[in-house]
Amino acid sequence: MTITRRDLLSGSTAFLALHPTITAAAAVPLPRDTDVAVIGAGAAGIAAARRIAAAGKKVVVIEATASVGGRCVTDTSTFDVPFDRGARWLYNTDVNPLIAAAREADIVLTPAPRGQKIRIGRRNARAGETEDFLALVVRANRAMTEALRGRPDVSATDALPKDLQEWGGTLDFFLGAFATGRDLKDLSAADLLTMLPRDPASASRQGLGTMIARLAENVPVTLSTPVTRIAWGARDAQVETEAGTLTARAVIVTASTNVINAGKIKFSPELPRRQLEALSKLVLGSYDHIAFELPGNPFGLGRDDSYIEQSGDNRTAFLLANTGGSSLCQIDVAGSFGENLSVHGEAAMSAFAVEWLRKLFGGDVARSLKRTVVTRWNDTPYAMGAMSAALVGGQSSRKILMEPLGPLFFAGDAIHDTQWGTVGGAWGSGERAADAALRKLSGKIEGMAQEERPAKRPRSGTQAGGLAWPKQRN
Ligand SMILES: Cc1cc2nc3c(=O)[nH]c(=O)nc-3n(C[C@H](O)[C@H](O)[C@H](O)COP(=O)(O)OP(=O)(O)OC[C@H]3O[C@@H](n4cnc5c(N)ncnc54)[C@H](O)[C@@H]3O)c2cc1C
Repeated sequence: MTITRRDLLSGSTAFLALHPTITAAAAVPLPRDTDVAVIGAGAAGIAAARRIAAAGKKVVVIEATASVGGRCVTDTSTFDVPFDRGARWLYNTDVNPLIAAAREADIVLTPAPRGQKIRIGRRNARAGETEDFLALVVRANRAMTEALRGRPDVSATDALPKDLQEWGGTLDFFLGAFATGRDLKDLSAADLLTMLPRDPASASRQGLGTMIARLAENVPVTLSTPVTRIAWGARDAQVETEAGTLTARAVIVTASTNVINAGKIKFSPELPRRQLEALSKLVLGSYDHIAFELPGNPFGLGRDDSYIEQSGDNRTAFLLANTGGSSLCQIDVAGSFGENLSVHGEAAMSAFAVEWLRKLFGGDVARSLKRTVVTRWNDTPYAMGAMSAALVGGQSSRKILMEPLGPLFFAGDAIHDTQWGTVGGAWGSGERAADAALRKLSGKIEGMAQEERPAKRPRSGTQAGGLAWPKQRN
């Protein structure tokens, strides 16, 4: 059964009618003081604030833009169905901490489409060809494991088998750009192997951005207020904005690593070298959607059919067709190719999408496309990229940023050991940072607690299915 356009529209309208104050519900002016200030109203910030509020402490989220969600934002006006401009799927349904929050809020999640088909020229790959590719993925993972024996880290590319030929671009895209926003050559093999396999996945019919906004409903958020400086001492911090200064006993910073690395938030005193180096090794990769309506299903594809292609180079992409049974199709470009394309602007991105579809399916695609929308996350001022990835040698950086620094705590999709670069990881990191901040408020932590120093890391933490240390709540 396919969901009709009407089902989707009435579903999201009903949802919004039930929750009419989605972005403005708890919009508040900047207070003078609070127990905990959270910088950023993305998944990490909302998770942190909910946790602090549930513990009965005063909290406020300070958000640079005019809405909540960060890199989870749903466009409900351009197409006939909700279009997630950023994240669209929740991975690792069994351990994703956001799933529990969604269920508690009665948000209905549906299974995301499973698996991609592979296109070879203008035909679908035969079963044997798909198996060849999957065998290559297994070999690549084994090769990375082997390459890490006796070495702390290598570039994922250096570890790969050398006989990839016509599958070289597909493998690079599938394991690198498509999964993390970065090419394999720029990725830490150690980090890639620590990532939980992103399966199974769920989606929200109303969109992930709408879902995060709903979970933020009762969270006090000061919108359109960029934080410019945080002056921090041993006991508290002053958070400076153009709307005034707020004093907080603890500050949870969830702005993306690229935003912090670009110096958009100044720290006074400057962050220690240990944290600065860790931040510089966790950079956001590039990932964008080119979305358009393709009425009449000219290629005869199924609902949520998704494709990658056999490719020897990185000029490749991912197609999600007929989203939720509608005529919304999305082509995702990522990694260095996607980044370069996005630098050339929307026209270049749309032109690539048309050309790529023509290559894969033939026909006069350009005449059929309607209402094209492209995202350009690298140019989005308070994101500056798509998702966190670790450069070679950067895997330990994630733990370094979990260490409290006086009144400062970091959270966000970069700061999760195994679900990095995802909404679930961001949510989990927000909850972890909130727990650490609450311990500080209760006097259990002054500066960096002994049990959180890396040297004292309990061995079981990394052994228990890779779940992060300090202990994550799932
Ligand atoms: C195109 C795309 C597709 C993706 N697909 C998926 C997917 O399917 N599944 C998945 O799990 N993940 C996906 N991701 C990754 C996912 O969106 C992110 O990992 C996650 O949303 C990050 O959440 P966060 O809270 O850490 O950061 P953000 O969402 O970036 O939140 C940080 C917030 O801080 C605010 N901020 C920044 N600077 C300041 C400042 N100076 N003052 C005040 N506020 C500030 C920002 O405006 C933002 O609201 C995708 C990302 C993109 C871009």
